[in-house]
Amino acid sequence: MTFKHLLSPLDLGFTQLKNRVIMGSMHTGLEEEKQGFEKLAQFYAERAQADVALIVTGGISPNFQGRLAFHTAQLSFSWQIKKHRIVTEAVHQAGGKICLQILHAGRYSYHPLSGAPSRIQAIISPFKPFKMFGWQVKKTIQDFVRCAELAALSGYDGVEVMGSEGYLINQFLCQKTNQRQDAWGGSFERRIQFALEIVKGIRKRVGTDFIIIFRLSMLDLVEKGSSWKEVVDLAKALKDAGVTLINTGIGWHEARIPTIATSVPRAAFTWVTQKLKQEVDIPLITSNRINMPEVAEHVLAEGQADMISMARPFLADEQWVKKAQQQRSDLINTCIACNQACLDHTFKMERASCLVNPRACYETELNFPQVSEAKNIAVVGAGPAGMAFSVYAACRGHHITVFEKSPQMGGQFNLASRIPGKEEFKETLRYFAQQFKLHQIDLRLNQAFTQEVLAQEQFDEVVVASGVIPRKLDLEGFESPHVLSYQEALMGAEIGERVAIIGAGGIGIDMAQFIFESQESLTLDLERWLAWWGIDKNYRQPGGLCTPESISSSQVREVHLLQRKTSKIGQFLGKTTGWIHRAHLKHHQVITHQGVHYLKFDEQGLHIEKNGQVEVLAVDTVIVCAGQVSNRHALKWLDEVDIPLHFIGGVELALELDAERAIRQGAELAASI
Ligand code: FAD
Ligand code: NAP
Ligand code: SF4
Repeated sequence: MTFKHLLSPLDLGFTQLKNRVIMGSMHTGLEEEKQGFEKLAQFYAERAQADVALIVTGGISPNFQGRLAFHTAQLSFSWQIKKHRIVTEAVHQAGGKICLQILHAGRYSYHPLSGAPSRIQAIISPFKPFKMFGWQVKKTIQDFVRCAELAALSGYDGVEVMGSEGYLINQFLCQKTNQRQDAWGGSFERRIQFALEIVKGIRKRVGTDFIIIFRLSMLDLVEKGSSWKEVVDLAKALKDAGVTLINTGIGWHEARIPTIATSVPRAAFTWVTQKLKQEVDIPLITSNRINMPEVAEHVLAEGQADMISMARPFLADEQWVKKAQQQRSDLINTCIACNQACLDHTFKMERASCLVNPRACYETELNFPQVSEAKNIAVVGAGPAGMAFSVYAACRGHHITVFEKSPQMGGQFNLASRIPGKEEFKETLRYFAQQFKLHQIDLRLNQAFTQEVLAQEQFDEVVVASGVIPRKLDLEGFESPHVLSYQEALMGAEIGERVAIIGAGGIGIDMAQFIFESQESLTLDLERWLAWWGIDKNYRQPGGLCTPESISSSQVREVHLLQRKTSKIGQFLGKTTGWIHRAHLKHHQVITHQGVHYLKFDEQGLHIEKNGQVEVLAVDTVIVCAGQVSNRHALKWLDEVDIPLHFIGGVELALELDAERAIRQGAELAASI
């Protein structure tokens, strides 16, 4: 595929964008770190070098009150220009363009001084905002304008005004959060004045040769959000006020509908941008769950938008555009939309990175220079840890031989990719397979690493990445063929009509999803997915919501999900995705049990003790998802050999292991070996 539309330039009149790809705004955490701007400069410059047409920075507040949290970044003073110049100069030298995103969090500010149009607390915030006085509203507009002026002085090519996701401007736009009766509230015309005054003020201050993007909430996905007519009227008014491009915002942060998680179908919301394209004559940018050039090209070729904004795909692969130019999308390290190393980090106030690319946001710290003396290295196991190590070590020039006892690469990640809603995980397996070919890594499938193998070949070092095996429970009746490990269940063992899942961690919850949706993944069927979540393409209600359709599974099953802990089921899942899994469990009427003690399994079912009472769950199948243990015992003989050994991933420590840790460990070892 040639990606004709994706790679064609866009003429904005006063400037040209080299293609249709925007790297969307992401707060990385580097904005607040010591020496963070130097690291940010390298992070952005690598993406610019690889031909991203336009980069948008993470959100920067125009004043103190608008900061996302007390410690987060703000641009209000001329002394701050210097550090922003580090970024803009690096991007320009790399041949790119960059806009600063101005974001006032309003009632989403995670501090007690937050301000909003009305004193209405968000369900996702512990703080009740102060209602802004009229003079504060005017001052905030001036702060936006000043911030844009400083951005221009810092060398940015433009700004993106954050008007969506439920932040301050969005709060002014909607009755849900704006119950004022002064010049800034009441009628639609008055509610949009805040946004329009900001844009007009910026345009007047910065002149005509400066990009102004407005991120417009085209689909609020909350009750009392904007109506479709209001979205259209605002877009037209914004154009008249002087914006250059309108970007698509989908869903407020408090909306209980997933908008970017891996279970969201690809390009699930481009229809909204397309709807607006029929109404306004200004270039529109679309976004959300577009992660591969084929998808982006299709969206543009269909005329749904003029540009594509992708954020996380540029954490996953800085060379995304270059690979599209070379028609090598098979080499792209695809963002699997897991949120694990990016957004979940941000919510924990940690630096963002990427599960599939641990170098993201570590560009100045994690590198793989060529070695002067190549080593002959054996790698045991081609799971995420072994695959990552092998590719990065091969990049450095080492000779890598990988022994994998099973017929395929991927380890437990293969099982993960079988979960409905996790289809994207297959892309990571494809990526590593291609990298193995590219770097001519000697992959020996169906070959366990044994003493005999080691004796036959000459290796300088051995990297053990033999991973984990499912934990077995030593209980009466658990040797029955009706008691399955999660591995057996996912590989096709017969599952009965009444099932007990032991262990409600990530895999236990995935297992419930597998049982109900393995024949009919909603993620692969956009219309059903929209109906399931209650999203109305016809936009009959403000906010775009409708009553979710109860889509019954073709598999009528009773499923129990059990854990020993008394805490909430799924409490330890990622902040940005745990609630989605819990919504699925609820929808499928999974019966959850906490504080359980397991006793035995027999023809009556699973015997448990709960609250001091013995109960029998009349199930015909038990699936054990009770965590894993390290696979180290199988290679105990290695302790006796005289060769440098390294243990990475699950074999090193099974507790709380996930692919993020496994891949990062592999990369870090490769950087140091
Ligand atoms: P493994 O994946 O266990 O790989 C070890 C490899 O070594 C295997 O291929 C094995 O065959 C091979 N091997 C073992 N012994 C030998 C030997 N002697 N010789 C040769 N080869 C050998 N993680 C996440 O981060 N996010 C998720 O959403 C997620 N979802 C999951 C869903 C499911 C259903 C499952 C099962 C797991 C999920 N995980 C997830 C966990 C993730 O897959 C694991 O943490 C990760 O695969 C561990 O990587 P590893 O390389 O350490 O080990
Ligand atoms: P996990 O999340 O640690 O859950 C293990 C479950 O087993 C817990 O519910 C635990 O609960 C139970 N358990 C532990 N020891 C037990 C024992 N001896 N007897 C009975 N029950 C026991 O691990 P996992 O589900 O196996 O997942 C493995 C890794 O993959 C995790 O790190 C996870 O984060 C990752 N993963 C992530 C996702 C995701 O969507 N992000 C999805 C799947 C997997 P009790 O101790 O309360 O019984
Ligand atoms: Fe994408 Fe996951 Fe990487 Fe975030 S951590 S950029 S969601 S692959």
